Amino acid sequence: MNAPESLRKDSLYLAETHEVVNVARDLVDYNPYLQDAALQEAVRREGAEWAHHDLASFGAMVGTAEYLELGVLANRFGPELDTHDRFGNRVDLVRFHPAYHALMKTAIENGLHSSPWTDPGPGAHVARAARTYLHTQVEAGHGCPVTMTFAAVPSLRTTPQLAALWEQKVTARVYDPRNVPDADKKGLAIGMAMTEKQGGSDVRANTTRAFPVGSGGPGEPYELVGHKYFVSAPMCDAFLVLAQAPGGLSCFLLPRWRPDGSKNPMQVLRLKRKMGNVSNASSETELRGALAWMVGEEGRGVRTIIEMVAMTRFDCMVGSSAGQRAAVSQALHHCSMRSAFGKVLNQQPLMQNVLADLVLESEGSVALTMRIARALDHRADEREDLLVRLCTAVGKYWICKRTPDHAYESMECIGGSGVMEDSPFPRLFRESPVNAIWEGSGNVQCLDVLRAMHKVPAVVEAFFGELGKARGANATLDGYIGALRKEFADLGELEYRARDLVDRMALALQAALLVQHGLAVVADAFCASRLAASGRHNYGALPRGVDCAAIIARATPRA
Ligand SMILES: Cc1cc2nc3c(=O)[nH]c(=O)nc-3n(C[C@H](O)[C@H](O)[C@H](O)COP(=O)(O)OP(=O)(O)OC[C@H]3O[C@@H](n4cnc5c(N)ncnc54)[C@H](O)[C@@H]3O)c2cc1C
Repeated sequence: MNAPESLRKDSLYLAETHEVVNVARDLVDYNPYLQDAALQEAVRREGAEWAHHDLASFGAMVGTAEYLELGVLANRFGPELDTHDRFGNRVDLVRFHPAYHALMKTAIENGLHSSPWTDPGPGAHVARAARTYLHTQVEAGHGCPVTMTFAAVPSLRTTPQLAALWEQKVTARVYDPRNVPDADKKGLAIGMAMTEKQGGSDVRANTTRAFPVGSGGPGEPYELVGHKYFVSAPMCDAFLVLAQAPGGLSCFLLPRWRPDGSKNPMQVLRLKRKMGNVSNASSETELRGALAWMVGEEGRGVRTIIEMVAMTRFDCMVGSSAGQRAAVSQALHHCSMRSAFGKVLNQQPLMQNVLADLVLESEGSVALTMRIARALDHRADEREDLLVRLCTAVGKYWICKRTPDHAYESMECIGGSGVMEDSPFPRLFRESPVNAIWEGSGNVQCLDVLRAMHKVPAVVEAFFGELGKARGANATLDGYIGALRKEFADLGELEYRARDLVDRMALALQAALLVQHGLAVVADAFCASRLAASGRHNYGALPRGVDCAAIIARATPRA
């Protein structure tokens, strides 16, 4: 039966089921530096104002739609391993999507792996941390080899003859991903291989053995036999590896190729199938007589590699702070465009409470991270050095630990679309626990805080000295610091109580920084919600009297 004439005439109109309205659009083509007041203030305050224009240009570049797409592609098309070529030769070749290489190239050419070593001085670590913070918001996985390369330098410097051979190429702003010997390259990347099957946190359990090729000792060659269960970025040109030498657990530099141009037998067995951090390859390996050179003294492997680990822990703070900023930016952006029940979401009182609370978390994280960056720039000053020693563990623990909840709550602000794979949230959420687990998991960080207090008691006074700078500005904070002091006086069951203690240290430090330097509206809300209350509230439970609209307006990025 034919449709009536009138229906046929209107059929085009009728086939259109609906108009798409009241939806957000992608947060692209914006400048994540210039639209981040908290970051800009921290950069200025902590000594890197000179980098403002560079950071603004960098922000403009990484915030374009085209550049942000690299992060999506590098994770959609993850790395693949070829153990052998088609003729049966061992190649240990990991292939990455071109987007991953593009991200690596930007990172290396902008000195994210080296600028504080090649151009030290006031603000050097702060500027690098800010740049890393911006780049991590595009994509987190590629940051692993960049961080490890950056972090390896202090360990390498413990052995001047090795530093002389490697440092110039390791810090060069040249990205060369070819699977060829280091001698044929102008720029090199460094990885790290400590963890074994039977023990990760407790590296003293390592069973990989190191046999001296000649006399042995610092800077001398050894052959390594054993396995490493987590080796991220296995395409790095060399790795700092822990192994048992005759004189005890020692650190070694193990290149992927031998000086004669043959492959060094650090064989990649398989790539890990990770829930997050997908763009980054992490592998399981076996070392079958791999040639490596001793870094630092024999039997002092942990002491040597801890120089590297301290830096990677700092970068976990940067990375998780960036993850928080990326997540809350998305939430703020979405809620500025979506209406429900007759009001834009960011005008609904309860959503304002949630959004402002998420912003407070992110502001506390960036303030603490950038303060430690400043301390890294001034390590010759004993108090700053003590702060680095203690507060890197405090900050690594706290910021990384707070990030998964923050990612999830930000996702919920988007509603159902936030759960979908074509939204940024699955990637942010899957990435969110990783920093907390690697480079020393939560308990290990808290125990490290106790270790630092035990070995160098002066760290405690340096810590309270830092808190003292905020004295008198906020009564809640003053009371909180007083109570914290008392906690330190009670030495009973310290190990059992370590998390509780470090939670409070982190909150006190963040609050003290915000009270000294932050906008009053942010600092007061932070203290009221995290110090006066239990400190363990769900997001969106800010007390009355907080100017949520002002906090939201300051942090909302505009595309
Ligand atoms: C994606 C990814 C990439 C990685 N890449 C690398 C890499 O490139 N190189 C590398 O060397 N490693 C790498 N790791 C390994 C990582 O550093 C370890 O997983 C981590 O150090 C924990 O070690 P583990 O897995 O053996 O856990 P375990 O050491 O068995 O720890 C398990 C749990 O016990 C807790 N714990 C340990 N000791 C104590 C204690 N005394 N008291 C209370 N609690 C304790 C820990 O905090 C943790 O929660 C990677 C891990 C991941 C997830």
